[in-house]
Amino acid sequence: MVKPAATLLKSLVLGITLLVLAQVSTPLSADIFSDLLGRCPASPPTYNHIAARLQALANNPRCSVAVLGKTPQGRPLYVAQVTDPASTQRQATLFIIASQHGNEPAGATAALILLEHFAAAPTTLEREILKYLRIVAVPVANPDGFASGRRGNSRGVDLNRDWSARSQPETQMVVAAVRAAQPDAIMDLHELPAHSGKPAYQDNFVETIGMSRALPTELCHATTAVSSTIASWMKTYGYSLNVYFDYPGDNLALCHRYFGLGLKVPTFLCEAKRGGGRTLRERVGFLILSTLVSGNYVMNHSVPLPPSPPTPSPSAPSPSQPSPPVALASGPSTETPVVAVEYERGQSDDPDRGQLRVRVTSAPSFEYVTVCVGGQMRALGNSLNSTWPLDVTSLPAGRHRVTVTAFGRGDVELASRDITVEVGSDGGARAR
Ligand SMILES: [Zn+2]
Repeated sequence: MVKPAATLLKSLVLGITLLVLAQVSTPLSADIFSDLLGRCPASPPTYNHIAARLQALANNPRCSVAVLGKTPQGRPLYVAQVTDPASTQRQATLFIIASQHGNEPAGATAALILLEHFAAAPTTLEREILKYLRIVAVPVANPDGFASGRRGNSRGVDLNRDWSARSQPETQMVVAAVRAAQPDAIMDLHELPAHSGKPAYQDNFVETIGMSRALPTELCHATTAVSSTIASWMKTYGYSLNVYFDYPGDNLALCHRYFGLGLKVPTFLCEAKRGGGRTLRERVGFLILSTLVSGNYVMNHSVPLPPSPPTPSPSAPSPSQPSPPVALASGPSTETPVVAVEYERGQSDDPDRGQLRVRVTSAPSFEYVTVCVGGQMRALGNSLNSTWPLDVTSLPAGRHRVTVTAFGRGDVELASRDITVEVGSDGGARAR
């Protein structure tokens, strides 16, 4: 099923929205991101508080609220939507799944803020957006865990390992709600622990589908385009961010992979880092900004759903095309950016799980860097100094070229650098 192409008016809405996000004065000059953040409480609401506020939203003509069913402990599992019910335009649907880990309240807080703000629709901008966008949210996907402050549900099951099996009522209800809504994109909102030994868990990240010939081209283009746009907007608002990419063969027990790789819906796992003095407001801001960018994309681009089964896409651009190892200057900057990359072996307890240390210097127009390994884009980040985990145990023995490319505004390639990592037959790795 191919959806109608975006109209010129939708393109104008995109421009208006982006300008507002950029805090540029326009006729519709509300800074929607600041307005949304202004609704963030100092501490997260309780489950009962959220339930009461969702019930109150049911009285708003832009909203509908339903109970999907009851949890094992008898709590209602809510789904809510906000839209312009009188719109005659094609409305893209953005589906938010929040707080499936009950001890990660920023997701529920962000989802509730988005629902309430767009329900109130205080300016022309929100009302204009709702003509083209329907926001559907399960603000608390794990009500029993949320009420008790625990990661798993009341049976102790980690719901984010249950999506392909769907052994729990919560995952069954949410999957039914997603299938009914037929979303154009899905946001899966989480928080990272304050302290973790995992290299990938040291900063905010988004994880989504990478570019693969085994997947529909449009799907990969949507997820990679949204990723780079999220990275740019995060940089604008001072959030550092890494993006990690998934590929066919990855474990579908996780929510974002089940819906993304499995059901072929552009899906974004958003992990807000805790600790280091980060406030609830900062974590909620990261989740809201990711969601706004994704919503902005789907209401301005139709993402054609693939025929079933998906056909290989030989025309998909390869992220592994050779790049010049010498830095190149591009764009308005007269300074030549320099990309430096080195592979560091992991700690003694896990020597094969090394990391890439990347530095980009003298790049005023720098927006993000991509890391490609073994012909696949594995990571993208918006920080000038970044590290990424590189699990060489996932690579076959032999030499693997790692290409790091820095991009500037407008996705202009600024500079690129290759290194070769050699994986031995014993699984050990070293840089060459
Ligand atoms: Zn989580």
